[in-house]
Amino acid sequence: MILSDNAEIIDRAGIETLPIKFDLGGHNTDLFCKSDLIVLSPGVPESIAAVQVAKQKGVPVIGEVEVEIRELAAPMIGITGTNGKSTVTTLTGEIFQAAGKKTYIGGNIGEPMTDAVEAGAWDWVVIELSSFQLESMQSFKPRYSMLLNISPDHLDRYPDMAAYIDAKKRLLMNQDETDFTIVNIDDPEVMKVVASGRGQLIPFSCQQRLDEGMSCQDKEITWRWQGKEIQFPVDELQIKGLHNVANVMAAMVPALIEGVDAQTIWRAVCDFTGLPHRMNLVRMLDGVAWYDDSKGTNVGSVVMSLTGLDKPVTLIAGGKDKGGDFGLLRTAVAEKVTTLILIGEAAVRIEKEIGPVTEIIQAETLA
Ligand code: ADP
Repeated sequence: MILSDNAEIIDRAGIETLPIKFDLGGHNTDLFCKSDLIVLSPGVPESIAAVQVAKQKGVPVIGEVEVEIRELAAPMIGITGTNGKSTVTTLTGEIFQAAGKKTYIGGNIGEPMTDAVEAGAWDWVVIELSSFQLESMQSFKPRYSMLLNISPDHLDRYPDMAAYIDAKKRLLMNQDETDFTIVNIDDPEVMKVVASGRGQLIPFSCQQRLDEGMSCQDKEITWRWQGKEIQFPVDELQIKGLHNVANVMAAMVPALIEGVDAQTIWRAVCDFTGLPHRMNLVRMLDGVAWYDDSKGTNVGSVVMSLTGLDKPVTLIAGGKDKGGDFGLLRTAVAEKVTTLILIGEAAVRIEKEIGPVTEIIQAETLA
């Protein structure tokens, strides 16, 4: 086995004793062409030269998650979307765990999935999948797939939105009529993607009443399915915001269809207090609430976070420029933000694209 990395130096802790050779400081095309199989880390696009040349010579190329799912026999739930993946993956898994099922929660969250393979048999495997991971999936056939939402992200890796959406489509490519596809019908981009799938559609909506599926109106979530109707009061949830209502609705569907008792499901959902770095209150200081939302890493999630706030906001934003349209932040910033402090690579472009809708400070450092 050869470990290839663009970096000169990598952290070898934990692999020193394994029979591995190293190809560091670039990728050696010759080595790639002589390989039996190339396994890509999700951060590495298939488009790099060494991979492309090897692929043309017939060397199979798969992603890291693909390696592991081939070893797992349990029914799977695959979750993707631009935002909310980790929250929904965790919730979905915790619901099955609360029902006494041995459930693996992983993928684009937590430790690499090799843990799932080593731990033996599972009742359920719940996997968060980023578009990067989906790109190199081949045999993934989830019993349940979930498409939460699609908005611009990762446009530094994809040539355009269509290419990003094509990666998301791969979640559905092996599903058939025996599988279920859980979709946010409020999102027109999601609806374009599901047109390519063959799974049984189960819609969820925060905007309209649904005769079949999951909907929310007047602070009441309602599940209507095959003549049954169950209601869940939104006020009992500990996680806040309409986006989290959508997340909860999606997460409950697989367990409801699998016949898990509704009370067990709702208790697990209400026990959930949210993951760290997603609009977590750090502390109150002199009457000011400080929130950590460092997982708000694209325009859509920041708009969502601002929507949930009703006080005048000082927003610290910036970091890596992933090529999205920061102009989409303008309305939310104009309505909610009194001072915008910008940092990092994207700072200048954010200011230019948002425009002078509020006081803007360019900061050299976070301090
Ligand atoms: P992901 O794993 O897709 O990055 P997370 O569950 O970690 O998503 O949530 C990251 C951020 O995305 C949250 O802090 C919140 O601001 C936003 N978010 C979460 N769920 C949704 C949703 N359903 N729709 C839009 N934005 C969301």
